Amino acid sequence: MSEQEAYGHKGSQVLVQDTMLTKDDSEDPTAWLRDTDIVSYDFPYAADLIATSFNEWCKGQAALPFTESWRWCVLNYEGKRIDPINQSPQHWNSYWEDAAGLSLLSRKSYNLDLVEDGKSITFLSVPILTRSKGDIFALLGCAMSTEQYEKGGREIAEAMALHYKTCFYRRFEHVFVSDLASVHLNAERESERHSVLFQIVQRMHDNIDVDSVLIEVIESICAMYPGARLVLFMSQDHRSAHPQVKPLPPRWESNDVCARAFKDGRVALQNSNVDNRYLEIGLPLGGKQGVYGVFHMVIFNPDFPDVDLRFLTMVADTAGTAFENAKLYERSNQLIRELRMSNELTQRLNQSLRLGDIFQYAFEELLEMFQADYCCILHLDEEKGGLEVIACNYPALLNEIIDIGQGLGGKVYSTGEPLILSDYLQHAETASKLMDATKSQSIIATPLSVGGEVRGAIMLAHRDAHYFSYDNYRLLQAMAGHIGLAVGNARLHAEVRRLANRDSLTGLYARHYLDEEIKNRQGTDFCGSLIVVDIDQFKLVNDTYGHQKGDKILKQVSDIVKSSIRKGDIAARWGGEELAVYLPQLGVQQAAFVAERIRTRVQAETEPHVTVSCGIAEWSWTDERVSVESLFYRADMALYEAKNNGRNRVVIDSKQTESRVENP
Ligand code: GH3
Ligand code: MG
Ligand code: MG
Repeated sequence: MSEQEAYGHKGSQVLVQDTMLTKDDSEDPTAWLRDTDIVSYDFPYAADLIATSFNEWCKGQAALPFTESWRWCVLNYEGKRIDPINQSPQHWNSYWEDAAGLSLLSRKSYNLDLVEDGKSITFLSVPILTRSKGDIFALLGCAMSTEQYEKGGREIAEAMALHYKTCFYRRFEHVFVSDLASVHLNAERESERHSVLFQIVQRMHDNIDVDSVLIEVIESICAMYPGARLVLFMSQDHRSAHPQVKPLPPRWESNDVCARAFKDGRVALQNSNVDNRYLEIGLPLGGKQGVYGVFHMVIFNPDFPDVDLRFLTMVADTAGTAFENAKLYERSNQLIRELRMSNELTQRLNQSLRLGDIFQYAFEELLEMFQADYCCILHLDEEKGGLEVIACNYPALLNEIIDIGQGLGGKVYSTGEPLILSDYLQHAETASKLMDATKSQSIIATPLSVGGEVRGAIMLAHRDAHYFSYDNYRLLQAMAGHIGLAVGNARLHAEVRRLANRDSLTGLYARHYLDEEIKNRQGTDFCGSLIVVDIDQFKLVNDTYGHQKGDKILKQVSDIVKSSIRKGDIAARWGGEELAVYLPQLGVQQAAFVAERIRTRVQAETEPHVTVSCGIAEWSWTDERVSVESLFYRADMALYEAKNNGRNRVVIDSKQTESRVENP
């Protein structure tokens, strides 16, 4: 294997380089520099360079004894003297400039001889030519004694002029190279900034968390400018634990850099300190929808480069957009979370139509949803004339009745306004039993409205101060809406159920309700009695007084029945003008007393006057067959007997009487 093959690609590259470069070039890597030159367009701008290199050249002259007395000057491409006039008398300028003018015409050295103070002086001008095209870009002027001039002074001066040209070009190359180097350096710096910016942008947009975006930008800027002091002032309710993030001060002086940056939404600068050694920069953190904050940066460098300012502005703009995006993302997440929670709550509330269940579910869900220490639900109890603590995880308060307008709950109820307190101990105008008893500091509370009417209040408390956010406060109100709806439904349902079980004319229970109740009781109790009450000759009453009057009498009898029984007894309208009373856990004998009371009261209290007949039957768990139908049948039989025996009387089911006779 040849050496070239072994090196492969690398070897061939070296070959190409060898062929491309000439021998000279390969020896001197700066050869290209010698091809650079000033051209006639540059001449008007070259004066400084010509004069500087002239001064350098003068200093570097190890004065030959022969040339010691010579005086030199430098003239520009138009023959005007441009070096600082020092050693030679003023009026010599015109001699040199005259000689230079003639040199420019002839493109050769030119001399003028003059006698001054009895001495003969020669003024010589030597053109200096550009190295590539040979244009005259400057002229050297030299004054020497005519004697010296004639003894070879001219040749020496021309040789020295050549040396000047070398000095000039060395200087020119130096300037050219350092210009190039600084362009290169700036380009490198700019590209470094761009790559840092790109990384920051990427990292910032990778962050979907608001706080991470802010920390990212702060850390990026601090890493780029290690000596700088940086603080981010944030508006709105944005709080961060980062030590460099602070809330916007309530007041700024109008010429403050931060105030200006925040107001104008543009970068603002100011040299601070008396000696102007520091630069203060205000950088707005803004997005499409507004300015959210402002960076305050203090740098120990009054000549902060424009490139860096542009860079900082780009970083701040990027941060603003990323912050806004993260904020939107957070907001939409929050909404989704709220929707999910509200969905869970309503689902749970829909599981029951019982008021007690609704309050219990709401209480449990709210505690969980807000991660509160305490939850307390107050509900208006009209009979007791106050707000009952219907659900609370502080047991001592449960079932307590709170006066309307009393405490924080009572206040929320009576004003119908929600409430948020982040520091109860500091800012409570109203004392609260819940807060005092539970040693809580934070509270959010909302009225509980049912069908547009405030029916109670919901309170959530936490022992820590500043625990609940404004979003929590809002969410609780939304949840109270759902709970209010569920409470309304439960109340409606209870009302419908109550109406369905009642007879509208008499206000007594309906027959189906009585049937169900007896059936239920027969499943659990040992015994019970049924009285069937029938108004005597009611047809006649109707015929005599009319149906409307008949209805009134039926109502009177019903009221008498209702007020003649115990709380647990059930009075129902059995049908037409027939009523029925079920007496749980009572035997026929005791039932007969009740029936008798009804009979005598009806006779005494009705107007127009009517009487009733009653049939009574009982059931007992010892009966062979226990059923609602047979109980009714036997009571009806007894009633039939009462009718047959002259009405206005109470008859006990004969089977029971027999069994008692048989079984004394
Ligand atoms: P008795 O029971 O003493 O044998 O005679 P009665 O006239 O009451 O006979 P029955 O019980 O068979 O008749 C029931 C009558 O009661 C028929 C009907 O005109 C009347 N009635 C039934 N329901 C209502 C009612 O809701 N309002 C009025 N005004 N009358 C009713
Ligand atoms: Mg009747
Ligand atoms: Mg009847």
